Amino acid sequence: MLTGTAHLFIPGPTNVPADVQRAMIVPMQDHRAPEFGALLQPVLAGLKPVFGTREAQIALLPGSGTAAWEAAITNTLNAGDKVLMARHGQFSALWADMAQAMGLQVEIIDVAWGAPCPVREVERRLGADRHGEIRAVFVTHNETATGVTSDVGAVRHALDACFHDALLFVDGVSSIGSIPFEMDQWGVDMAVAGSQKGLMCPAGLGILAASPRALAAMENSHMPRSFLNLRAMLAAHEGGSFCFTPPAQLLHGLRAALTRLHSEGLENVFARHHRLAEGVRAGVAALGLSTVAEHRIFASDTVTAIRTPHGIDAREVISIARTRYNTHFGGGLGPLAGKAFRIGHLGDLNEGMCLTALGIAELSLKAAGAPVTLGAGITAAQHIFAGEAQAPALSI
Ligand code: PLP
Repeated sequence: MLTGTAHLFIPGPTNVPADVQRAMIVPMQDHRAPEFGALLQPVLAGLKPVFGTREAQIALLPGSGTAAWEAAITNTLNAGDKVLMARHGQFSALWADMAQAMGLQVEIIDVAWGAPCPVREVERRLGADRHGEIRAVFVTHNETATGVTSDVGAVRHALDACFHDALLFVDGVSSIGSIPFEMDQWGVDMAVAGSQKGLMCPAGLGILAASPRALAAMENSHMPRSFLNLRAMLAAHEGGSFCFTPPAQLLHGLRAALTRLHSEGLENVFARHHRLAEGVRAGVAALGLSTVAEHRIFASDTVTAIRTPHGIDAREVISIARTRYNTHFGGGLGPLAGKAFRIGHLGDLNEGMCLTALGIAELSLKAAGAPVTLGAGITAAQHIFAGEAQAPALSI
């Protein structure tokens, strides 16, 4: 029998803080009553700084990040439109598959899983698009499968450098609320998030922020949509409600989670995520392991994907952690299955939790036959957390 606290070190859903959990224990309420707006409006207002926007309108879509992916496409584009996207991990691959399934003409730039969005190549393709056929560029800000963060601001520069007016769609599902996201400054037109990662809530809401340009594009978009009708949802939000029965408990939770984020201060939240990630990366390097991220410069502050040594099946490491130590790590996705496991370090997390993650990873790796020195990872992370060391270069 497993005893004690189950440790959740997957990159979402993340730990829901106790006060957020308590905030959701409320009686059912009338979502058509005028006072429902008093719950919804602070949530929408509290999300805006987290998305780095004053200009965008935000819609809460019952569903998850995937629903917001779909809504971004079907509310602004038309079948046959050309879109440009990099494929460098499971989530960028899935978004590309969805775009194809919705009838878009998807120009894909394939790069290594472990590399970020190749901005120079994006710029080259935009520059070559003499007739302005590319209607949107899709970027996965934080590729959760590989632990790689891409430079969205640089993609905006690429668009501007080519005087290209394609829309910029960004998946911020595992970045928004944990690392800086500057929707207005980066000229992002559609930003996608979900409730269950940096926002520390249960899954159940896809969150979509639409810029004025995206809202204008809605006028000329005629793709079939019904449940995920952004115009209808924004109009309902304006009136303080939803188009249909909303997950009210989740809104109470989100309001409490946003209060937490703003009380800590977004800058402090981002700094904490960076510090914790540096500790985890130092621990991984001290164990002699490589990350999937090919360079520390774009290693994610929310999730680290770790390659297991040759001959060690990452699935076994994950299974040992789960069955012996009541601890959950993320699996390797797609071609990384069996080759990598992931430590999620986002949301409501502190140093002690990261040390636990590294300690259990050491025990599980050793039990799976990997030649790791027990304590080496924890010690390296402690030196980072004590402010005594810089994170060493990652071995790749
Ligand atoms: N995009 C990224 C980067 C993700 O990490 C995920 C889920 O982990 C998704 C999209 C899909 O989101 P959801 O599982 O909330 O539908």
